[in-house]
Amino acid sequence: MSLLFTQVKSQVTTRQAAERYGVQVNRSGMACCPFHDDRHPSMKIDKRFYCFGCHTTGDVIDFTARLFSLSLYDAAKKLANDFNIQPLPPGQSASIPKLPASIIERKEEQRVFEILIEYEQLLEKWKEEYAPSDPMDENPDSRFVHAVHFMPPLSDAIDRLFSSNSNERKAIMERIRSTDAVAKIKEILNEGCQEVKNDGPEKDRAA
Ligand SMILES: [Zn+2]
Repeated sequence: MSLLFTQVKSQVTTRQAAERYGVQVNRSGMACCPFHDDRHPSMKIDKRFYCFGCHTTGDVIDFTARLFSLSLYDAAKKLANDFNIQPLPPGQSASIPKLPASIIERKEEQRVFEILIEYEQLLEKWKEEYAPSDPMDENPDSRFVHAVHFMPPLSDAIDRLFSSNSNERKAIMERIRSTDAVAKIKEILNEGCQEVKNDGPEKDRAA
């Protein structure tokens, strides 16, 4: 079974499957998410997929399983069938090839990058929505304070991760790892989503 998964994943990208199954992907690789009520493209689709709206993510098999409400195994079989993937003869490349470390690192950078972009969008929103109406306000909303405080280093981190210089990227990834920043950001993002649903967290939560 895992061989089928490996073969499907190595031969079909999520983008190919999405297009084949009628999900329109624009030139920048964005599509309207089929898993939530999405009016503007908020799903990034490439080899894998990630929705900035509902946060669903996964590979081509996860995508197909969700789209057709299938089990992962049935989704893999469907993909193998639809994309005419032939099983390899026994003994031939039956072992799962290990990804080179550089590719694994690049994937991790991509994952962190997506989280940081989402965080930046949230902070931009906070900075606008919770800005004090009186600039002399001594007790501005904590979300505004948080946004003003964290946006400069965040933009810097995003710039560096976006850089084509692998040493820069490496340095910023090391810094991010050492501070556990991604886990903290994810927590804030989750609360940010709750906030949309519940119409506002307690005032001092995000500080
Ligand atoms: Zn979505």
